[in-house]
Amino acid sequence: LFPFDQPWGEDVFPDLPPLFRGRPDVHLRNGILNARVLASSGVPDAEKAFFVGDLSVVYKQHMRWTRCLPDIQPFYAVKCNPDPYILRLLAALGAGFDCASNGEINNILSIGGGIDPSRIIFANPCKATSFIRAAARTGVDTMTFDNADELYKIAKAHPRAKLVIRILTDDSKSLCAFGIKFGASLSVVPSLLAKAKELNLDVIGVSFHVGSGCYDPSIYRDAISRARAVFNMGRDVGYAFTLLDVGGGFEDRLFETAAQVITTAINEFFPEDERRQKGINLIAEPGRFYVSTAFRLAVNVIARRAPLDGRKAATPPPGEEQPEVMYYINDGVYGAFNCILFDHQTPQPHVLTLQGNTYTSSSPSHQQLASIWGPTCDSIDCVSKGVRLPYGIQVGDWFGFENMGAYTVCAASQFNGFDVSKVIYTVGGGSEEDVVVGEDIIAALTDFAQRV
Ligand code: PLP
Repeated sequence: LFPFDQPWGEDVFPDLPPLFRGRPDVHLRNGILNARVLASSGVPDAEKAFFVGDLSVVYKQHMRWTRCLPDIQPFYAVKCNPDPYILRLLAALGAGFDCASNGEINNILSIGGGIDPSRIIFANPCKATSFIRAAARTGVDTMTFDNADELYKIAKAHPRAKLVIRILTDDSKSLCAFGIKFGASLSVVPSLLAKAKELNLDVIGVSFHVGSGCYDPSIYRDAISRARAVFNMGRDVGYAFTLLDVGGGFEDRLFETAAQVITTAINEFFPEDERRQKGINLIAEPGRFYVSTAFRLAVNVIARRAPLDGRKAATPPPGEEQPEVMYYINDGVYGAFNCILFDHQTPQPHVLTLQGNTYTSSSPSHQQLASIWGPTCDSIDCVSKGVRLPYGIQVGDWFGFENMGAYTVCAASQFNGFDVSKVIYTVGGGSEEDVVVGEDIIAALTDFAQRV
């Protein structure tokens, strides 16, 4: 999958298929430390913001998945972060892919020597007819639906499709709820399935999505019990379902709990004997679980507004303290920090350098309230309205943000002509042998890496 000539990663990825043993680029070997070289090598625009993408984290998350949910095949939700190396790594590890559009499908089908279309689920219940036709042409058969019009379109454009009915479940315990837009309620499922039968369509199973960023994993139990009810409705109409898709929503810190809830519920509602007899396959569509913690973002302070006389810039609303200083950084809500608007995130900055010197969590310093702003000319472009940071941060200093892998790069724009921040890849760890300049930021980035 990687047509690169130099070997790397055998110690980091002992179980990887040999095809993956190549290097995406020279920055991989020393991982996060190489980020420093780019940032301070004296080339023009050396202050550019950049992601550090740690592919070993994606690998470790996959290992965690297979350990906790060995019977559920993950179909990675491409929308979450379509980074080409993440996709190649997951392809090499045998994952499937959840695609929402033709573009994503083509992206996956073009990986390496080609990914078999059976490893794709077209998991968008409301598709353009041209997209359904294209899926038929490329052999992508598995697709979701949740309404009657979708059935008519599929009957015309891809009559051999293997359909998965997406049902409505309780999404009230998630950061991003989807129920307002997608999912058939159980009351309409029997008539939808009857319509599918009448149209001679092959419905093979049930999917749901509890909402992205689910903070109460007990919700999966209820969703799986509803899926069971829909399996029974399918039987009543003459279908023998063979697929249960438990969707996405998995949060890194709650993953083991969610896995436990899901395993218990599946064993209760879909006993192992029945699964074996009827050949029921289990899949899921995890997105943020795989990539959220794999990316960090380093940004540069490109401008500062700090009143010389210490006056407050404006009268704060009652009960609110007014920031004493405003920092302007070179990525914002039109770029990577779109996750603030679209994904309800509140990214927290870590100070990497203070007046050009390494700043570690143990450095003593006086703190002051600061606001952080993106680089565009729009005032909505605010990364943090108020955060306590060490006193004395200057133009040229660096901040780091953790957990920037999910729903960030994928929705970043070039509004106002600002580039989307580039990714520098790492496989974790790193040595200093290739580092040519700037001990201070090397130490800062290393400290940053160790704190995660
Ligand atoms: N599947 C579908 C259909 C989705 O819409 C999404 C997110 O939007 C996902 C999976 C991934 O969800 P998550 O990142 O919460 O795992």
